[in-house]
Amino acid sequence: MDGKMKQELLDVFASKLNQSVRMYMDNCARCGACIEACHVYASSPETRYTAVGRAQNLRRLFEKYHKYSGKIAPWLGEAVELDDNWMKKVYETAFTCTGCRRCMTYCPFGIDTQQFQAMAKAMLIAADMEPKVLSMLADVSVAKGENIEATKANFAEACRQLEAEVIQKWQQEAGKETIPLDVKGAHVLYVALAGKHSIIPAAAIMNAAGENWSLSYFEAVNFGAFVGNPVVTKNIAQRIIDEANRLGVREVAICECGTAYRVMRHMTGTHDFKVITFLQLIERYLRDGRIKVNKAVNNGRTTYHDPCQIARNGGVYEAPRYILSRLTDDYVDTNPTKSANWCCGGGGGLVVVGDKDFRMMSAKVKADQVRATGAKVLATGCENCHSQLSDVNEHYQLGMSVEFVSSMAANALVR
Ligand code: SF4
Ligand code: SF4
Repeated sequence: MDGKMKQELLDVFASKLNQSVRMYMDNCARCGACIEACHVYASSPETRYTAVGRAQNLRRLFEKYHKYSGKIAPWLGEAVELDDNWMKKVYETAFTCTGCRRCMTYCPFGIDTQQFQAMAKAMLIAADMEPKVLSMLADVSVAKGENIEATKANFAEACRQLEAEVIQKWQQEAGKETIPLDVKGAHVLYVALAGKHSIIPAAAIMNAAGENWSLSYFEAVNFGAFVGNPVVTKNIAQRIIDEANRLGVREVAICECGTAYRVMRHMTGTHDFKVITFLQLIERYLRDGRIKVNKAVNNGRTTYHDPCQIARNGGVYEAPRYILSRLTDDYVDTNPTKSANWCCGGGGGLVVVGDKDFRMMSAKVKADQVRATGAKVLATGCENCHSQLSDVNEHYQLGMSVEFVSSMAANALVR
């Protein structure tokens, strides 16, 4: 690394040193409470995969460049120089962390380890060292948003081709659109992922509830958040905000995608509309009697994996459990559960970045946990988790059926 690049990276590091990060840098007591909280360490004890171990790289740099003690006695705080070796180490620790924040819930000081990872990712982006697949997917999303007018007709045609499959689950009344698009004054704007699995069950459920809804032209997924680029994250989220404002909707319901929900609900400020997960919408329909479901359709003991970005980082625990209680009499929670639930090991873009061996190794504790429930059905409410858990199911030969909560509800709809 040349001197110019080194200075640029140190400037990025300094720009992220806000009040809370400075406090987190100084306040770690090295108590170790976060160590066993990390599923990576719990699955394969290696100290570099602990929250404190990951953060230590950043602390050493802080010591070197921002502390008087680091300048006069660098050995005391284990201060280190910024160099290529440091960047490599930080790449490994940043992009093996799923951002699940389980470590934070166990830290007596509430140190938000993700603020360290955000610094690390900002420096990796500045050095052009981030996983290129994530940046590329984020760029594709941005470009698609910029050219949305040119793609609307094709998208509408693709939706028309899904109508028969929606009707198979719920016969829509004559004269009503099966997958409505661009509905001004709709109560709900539903934001899906690419792929019919994210559209068909949701459409059937909202049609069964008699909802006044509209499907968004935009995809929910936010690769800007995965790669750790706040500007791109905001750009991708803003398109949905603009669409919701243009249509004048009351609520934006985000499909089963944890990161998309967390970004829209907790990272974009306040709006004239509410942001909810689609799980919360299904729960409301069931509680209000707007949809009915048949328990006989979903067979076998069922458990639920809390997606970190919907549960621990998003605050939604009860909606999926209520839905499942209406779908089966044989529901069993995992142990631990809710805010202490283990991460699936696939978040933070890890499912996309690759290295399946690492993902499977770090998911051992998750596999053991769900196996212990004796469940035959493993339900979840996030695309990322669903992909990872499907791989975990196969790798650890769990013999379970991995399901989206929305698909289970749509398959069980009754008149
Ligand atoms: S956020 Fe999750 S993956 Fe990252 S260090 Fe904490 S517990 Fe481990
Ligand atoms: S639990 Fe908190 S204070 Fe203790 S080692 Fe981990 S980050 Fe530091």
